[in-house]
Amino acid sequence: MINFQYVRATNVTDAVRLISADPAAKFIAGGTNLIDLMKEDVERPSRLIDISRLPLKTVEQTPDGGLRIGALVPNADLAYHPLVAQRYPMLASAILAGASAQLRNMASTGGNLLQRTRCAYFYDTATPCNKRQPGTGCSAITGLNRSHAILGASEACIATHPSDMCVALRALDATVQVTGPKGERTIAISDFHCLPGDTPQRETTLEPNEIITAIVLPPLGFAANYTYLKLRDRLSYAFALVSVAVGLEFDGDRIKQASLALGGVAHKPWRDNAAETVLQGHVADQANFTRAADTLLRDAKGFGHNDFKVDLAQRAIVRALTQAANATPQSQSNKKIA
Ligand SMILES: Cc1cc2nc3c(=O)[nH]c(=O)nc-3n(C[C@H](O)[C@H](O)[C@H](O)COP(=O)(O)OP(=O)(O)OC[C@H]3O[C@@H](n4cnc5c(N)ncnc54)[C@H](O)[C@@H]3O)c2cc1C
Ligand code: SF4
Repeated sequence: MINFQYVRATNVTDAVRLISADPAAKFIAGGTNLIDLMKEDVERPSRLIDISRLPLKTVEQTPDGGLRIGALVPNADLAYHPLVAQRYPMLASAILAGASAQLRNMASTGGNLLQRTRCAYFYDTATPCNKRQPGTGCSAITGLNRSHAILGASEACIATHPSDMCVALRALDATVQVTGPKGERTIAISDFHCLPGDTPQRETTLEPNEIITAIVLPPLGFAANYTYLKLRDRLSYAFALVSVAVGLEFDGDRIKQASLALGGVAHKPWRDNAAETVLQGHVADQANFTRAADTLLRDAKGFGHNDFKVDLAQRAIVRALTQAANATPQSQSNKKIA
């Protein structure tokens, strides 16, 4: 681990000033991902700018009935916040499906968005990795790729984004508020994370000198018909092989609005309006759920060890839609659909 300087930012303007002054500096919030990466010599910041005491820890209602979540709200506080638990239970479920209680107490909302892939080669500095060291090659494509992407991958990188929280944020159409030297801007969550293309080292559209200040949720939280289904090797403390966030709105027995996002399958939380169109205006039955899954996965392909994920994702989507339609977010009960 390299030597580094440490400084504490006093406010958001100060944080932006400090990060703009040193391209090799990094913000540190909860430190649950960054410190691990520094210990593995993957991240080598010249300076850590501690933002953990900035006043970005509130959850507030917005005038339009949505929610504004400060970037430093701990994951645990967010999941158990009454407004989140009542109005956005999909988000609460996704957060509680991640990491451990101790980690969720430390991890921040902003840091969760920026956590880096869990590809083992990315962590192993003895192996080639285009994300860690552009141009060296991708060890995973012909290596151990059981946990890797089946959608949106490139010849340069087949890593996945590991966050659970971000999958729910994608299904909820969240936006990310950031501040940089030129002022504030808002980024749709769909545009926040990047696909790898030929620049897998660039993971988000956040500029290096910008700080995330908040996440904003629109009013629609799908509180009645939702689920977050996470499939993994262990029941807890494991990253998703496949996860599915579903929100449904009904008009009688017809689906008025559907939102469907996948985690553990791509470099970013995966969503495709074509799959939702298959559901909208139709009844909630097995045939329509299967069609939606087939549409969402029409371009899915494995790289050997992870071929099983295509089938797993197919079944997970149908099961998650079933749970959401039945308003039984944690069960496999088939009350409503054939
Ligand atoms: C053993 C283990 C298991 C885990 N399991 C899961 C899991 O199952 N599911 C899951 O979703 N996550 C899991 N996590 C990841 C965990 O959720 C993240 O490490 C955490 O959310 C990161 O938040 P942090 O505040 O600690 O970020 P930090 O480590 O402090 O920072 C991460 C990155 O974000 C940057 N950053 C932080 N805040 C800001 C900001 N406001 N603006 C700009 N840049 C910022 C930092 O510079 C750094 O690059 C696990 C982590 C561990 C260690
Ligand atoms: S999948 Fe991406 S992160 Fe993993 S070795 Fe290949 S380039 Fe590196």
